[in-house]
Amino acid sequence: MTLRARDGVAELPLYSGGDACAVDLSDNTNLWGAPPGTSRAFAGAAARVARYPSAGAAELCAEVARYAGVTPPMVVAGCGSDDVIDSAFRAFGTPGSCVAYVEPTFSMVPVLARTNGLRPVAVAHDDDAERLLASLRASDPSIVYLCSPNNPTGSALPRAFVERVLESIDALVILDEAYGEFTTSFGFELVRTSDRLLVTRTFSKAFGLAGLRVGYGVGAASVAGTVARARGPYKVGGVAEQVALAAMRDDVSWMREHARLAIEEREWLAAQLVNRGFETMPSEANFVLLPLAGAPGVATALRSCGIGVRAFSALPGIGDALRITAGPRPMLEALLSAFDKVVRP
Ligand SMILES: *Cc1c(COP(=O)(O)O)cnc(C)c1O
Repeated sequence: MTLRARDGVAELPLYSGGDACAVDLSDNTNLWGAPPGTSRAFAGAAARVARYPSAGAAELCAEVARYAGVTPPMVVAGCGSDDVIDSAFRAFGTPGSCVAYVEPTFSMVPVLARTNGLRPVAVAHDDDAERLLASLRASDPSIVYLCSPNNPTGSALPRAFVERVLESIDALVILDEAYGEFTTSFGFELVRTSDRLLVTRTFSKAFGLAGLRVGYGVGAASVAGTVARARGPYKVGGVAEQVALAAMRDDVSWMREHARLAIEEREWLAAQLVNRGFETMPSEANFVLLPLAGAPGVATALRSCGIGVRAFSALPGIGDALRITAGPRPMLEALLSAFDKVVRP
């Protein structure tokens, strides 16, 4: 007898974050570093590690609720927002049903669908919102995943479109706002009036705490509670909880200031690329997507100069592209100087 994995799982690529390099602009984290209160919070939390943390990170959920303008039962925390999305797929995805999403989007979505016994259904982008809605609806999904601002394009969805999805598709709608701090986002407002929406956010991007692995979802208490049940207990470590809590309690102004810097640097980088004759996609996140034929080869060449960027090949509707995280000016200057050696326009 041979041991068989769930359909499609044995064929999944094993996620690789890429090797370390001197100037890493590949993962959209906060390249200015962690918030100032971090080391103090670490020291304070050390005494707690002999015991289990609270099963569902209750203290952190209460602080997130204040930040999001909702009540604590509307918040569910997890080991990164990946874990929250994974748990929501498990909670609301009937095995064999579909997860519909517009491509290109976050690469983990089809993977998390497969590992939960769901069918990923990628729908092509359409400027006509009603046609796009019809395509999303066509697979009769149990879950619709939307990402705004979207990874890897950087584009944000209009609020009216998300509202149309909520009123016209009978599914759990996940609105991934991992980059919500870099633009004017509306997820926290929509959850107050919808009991089919889960908005996910993370401490990994603007908050500068990717190494901690803390993310959360905000939705109706019935939605958040069901996701928490599917997630299981103790997914946020006690030290991670205390450090994330301190960041949200004391360092939101630091976070906002650095999100503003990231936007400034993103615009500077885009302008430098435009000056060189390239066209970047308009972005509302902390990165720029640069459509570029042969992007994977360019990324390999940049890596040998010590510069890490994320390459994509044949993105639907875009083609090959490089995704570059906006960081402090010297990092971007290092990127551009390597780029000028590697790419001849
Ligand atoms: C980075 C990212 C996340 C995941 O973040 P966690 O580190 O798991 O919280 C989720 N969604 C998108 C679109 C991302 O880019």
